[in-house]
Amino acid sequence: MENFHVKGGEIVFEASFDESVARYLRATTLRFSYDVALESVDPCFVVIPFVSTILTVAWALGADVEVPVLDKTFIESAESIRKVMKSWYPRLSFRGEIRAHTTRSAAGTAGREGILYSGGLDSTASMLRHLDSRPVPMLVLGTPDLPTNHPEFLAMFLERVAPFVGQLGLKLHVIRSGMLEMVDLETLNEDFGKAVGGYWWESISHGLMLLGSCAPVAAAEGVGILRIAASRTEAFEEPWGSNPQVDEKLAWGGTRVVHDSYDLSRQQKIDSLIAPFLRGTKETIPLRACGSTKSKERVVRKMLNCERCEKCVRTIVGLLAGGVDPKACGFGMGYFSAESLRRGLEEGGLRLPKSVWDLWVDIQASVRKQRPEEFPSMYDARPFFEWMRGYDLSRNLYKPSLATRVLKDSVPRFSERQRSLELIREFRRMSAQAPAEQE
Ligand SMILES: [Zn+2]
Repeated sequence: MENFHVKGGEIVFEASFDESVARYLRATTLRFSYDVALESVDPCFVVIPFVSTILTVAWALGADVEVPVLDKTFIESAESIRKVMKSWYPRLSFRGEIRAHTTRSAAGTAGREGILYSGGLDSTASMLRHLDSRPVPMLVLGTPDLPTNHPEFLAMFLERVAPFVGQLGLKLHVIRSGMLEMVDLETLNEDFGKAVGGYWWESISHGLMLLGSCAPVAAAEGVGILRIAASRTEAFEEPWGSNPQVDEKLAWGGTRVVHDSYDLSRQQKIDSLIAPFLRGTKETIPLRACGSTKSKERVVRKMLNCERCEKCVRTIVGLLAGGVDPKACGFGMGYFSAESLRRGLEEGGLRLPKSVWDLWVDIQASVRKQRPEEFPSMYDARPFFEWMRGYDLSRNLYKPSLATRVLKDSVPRFSERQRSLELIREFRRMSAQAPAEQE
């Protein structure tokens, strides 16, 4: 990094790169915008978003990262994370160092809790779980599922989530990150997809990039514990860019990271946090479960979710299984059909890769614990769950063919991930009886 400037809530980093990394970093300027003034924040924290943005790229190529100043605890924690990731992805270099001209062990006051919030089910559940500690919610924009080049969707999304967070008595901090304007995920996926077994963002970078983005505001707000919601439990054993093994090693100043609610499955979060919050109230939760933002229809119809992809359909079914009307969680329910979903599953056309299939089994386990008379009657859910509790879901588990398995051995997980995307598209077509979304 050549230098950086802080003005109000704006941070601008200027950098230059060696040729070896320039292929993956498409800009030399990186901007972050916060809704708090940062002039009084220690520069050794202000620089963290820059380092966390480019660090995995530097590791992949064995490049050094040089910065004028940085917190000593952060450097040490990054080193521990590097060791874990090196064991996950041995085909990447993982050489290279973080070099700071000045390092400091800055402490600062850190009595509050912070929490990353994205509008998704996991982060919403974590926020509800820790309401008593009045956490500081931080929302990072400029990610693959909340890209800044869809300003109309983002405006609609913020119009829904900011008042919800306000009703909980919390003040939402919005962080506008330029990280994906600098880091070229497409080229990283092309060149290193096989080495990380899938996609760069998911497999290696998202935990570090999201958490690091929060460092300046965490310092300004005196956050000692920063929570990032788990999207999986320990039953999920694949390497992933956000899990307790890496997230909880990350620290700076007086701030440490907690990978939150790793003890609860997605359905358990609905059953034990979302449903009880909504029960007996007229409150609603603006859930954004869907990863797609590209549909114009969603802006026009003010839909937070496409309501047709596998993840949307699964979330709707999970909410119903928890006795929650999906309309109370921002779903319009204009596309969902329990009957066509049942047909799709039963006729065997819908096959899901293990990592996604496990989440349907999680819903089924919750359904099996309930008495049939407890099943909700809305949206034809009762006959669907009566059928689902006795259904053998293993028919819908995608098992790679021998040819795919041979390929998989030489190219770990990548072919399965690609296949899973195809399957999910197929699922969308079959489960929704609706024309393919215009994107
Ligand atoms: Zn969707």
